Amino acid sequence: MAGEAHTRKEVEIVKGHRLDHQLYNYLLQYFSESELESIFESIRRPPSRYYVRVNTLKISPEDLMRTLRDRSIDVYPDEHLPEALWFPVKGPNKVPSARKYVLADKKASESVYVGANLYVPGVIKMDGEVRKGDEVNVIAPNGEVVAFGIAEVGSDDIKNVRRGIAVRTIVSVYGMPKVREMREYEMGLFYDQSLPAQWVGRVIDPKPNEVIVDMNAAPGGKTSHMIQLSGGKAIVHAFDRSEGKVNELIEALSRLSMDSLYRVEVRDTRYLDIDRPDLVGSTDKVLIDPPCTDVGVRPRLFDVKTMDLVRAMSNYQRQFIRVAWRLLKPGGVLVYSTCTIPPLENEDNIDYAESLGFEVVDISIPNASGGLIDKYGDSVVRFYPHIHDTPGFFIAKLRKPS
Ligand code: SAH
Repeated sequence: MAGEAHTRKEVEIVKGHRLDHQLYNYLLQYFSESELESIFESIRRPPSRYYVRVNTLKISPEDLMRTLRDRSIDVYPDEHLPEALWFPVKGPNKVPSARKYVLADKKASESVYVGANLYVPGVIKMDGEVRKGDEVNVIAPNGEVVAFGIAEVGSDDIKNVRRGIAVRTIVSVYGMPKVREMREYEMGLFYDQSLPAQWVGRVIDPKPNEVIVDMNAAPGGKTSHMIQLSGGKAIVHAFDRSEGKVNELIEALSRLSMDSLYRVEVRDTRYLDIDRPDLVGSTDKVLIDPPCTDVGVRPRLFDVKTMDLVRAMSNYQRQFIRVAWRLLKPGGVLVYSTCTIPPLENEDNIDYAESLGFEVVDISIPNASGGLIDKYGDSVVRFYPHIHDTPGFFIAKLRKPS
């Protein structure tokens, strides 16, 4: 009978964020209840800084900052990473109510929540009679109001348009400059990328003439960073399984004027050693930035995660590690990063890499923490949403012995 057999299968840590019991208990081995709460509390919000990476092949950080400040845009240099600039994120703001609403999909509402306009593909539904010029609220799938804005497309026309702005955001829960609409963005002078993700490129430290394989490259954030750090002179092979996302990568790198500076292929890199024997034993550096459970990506309004998913992801990620071992030259370097929190996808995978023969190379990054497991307390790096005001992130560096 409904209700009677009801077992509480999930725990709601904070509003909208649920874990199944297994995952909850698993995480309690590493975090206290109140820590878990503050982690997910932070995940509901964006970090207070929105980071971009300057395309130093085109402009210096100082010049880009000056150009933006000349237009009265508030922008600051990171304290440690020279190519990183950030914009303050303001909020939470009080969002005015409108009489009409537009329902947005999850991804779009999370962008609108931090100030982006709502684009046509992100619209799920428009309230009965929205006319162009009407005041509307943008609503997320969980019913949360994420913004107040002006409709640029009416409900009669929405079916006939494929792209462009559906609602121009006026007040959103969090606010910051609309970076994607800046001319400097169009000109390829910067790429929006979180601070921890920018550190990954630094940990790889790409040098001219090195053969570097990026096993999970799209949409190209870390690929383009490696290209710029090597002055366009590393031999960067970018692979990704998703054709659509590879097209996004090509477009992004073209905007950054990097077209001729890398090679790209659509590939399931779990089989790269078979498909590209030329790279076996001849690669200097490999980056694995695999799909993960994403517990750490901000902001997330709501989410459900399960232990099964964590386990499946961890096993999937290990397949890339096995292939990286085969691709690398003796002495070659593997960098492994994720944007998630469970140790099974992080420290435990480093332990797995060691079982294959890899050696851990100690890294440390200013204002970040060490590993969550004693063994890696000083050798790998973690960023925590509730401590570092960044997305949750993990970075480790390994070497195949010579
Ligand atoms: N490194 C990227 C982000 C990668 S996200 C950046 O910095 O911008 C993880 C990527 O792994 C996704 O694009 C996904 O398509 C890709 N992926 C998932 N399974 C894969 C596989 N088997 N082979 C290659 N790429 C895969």
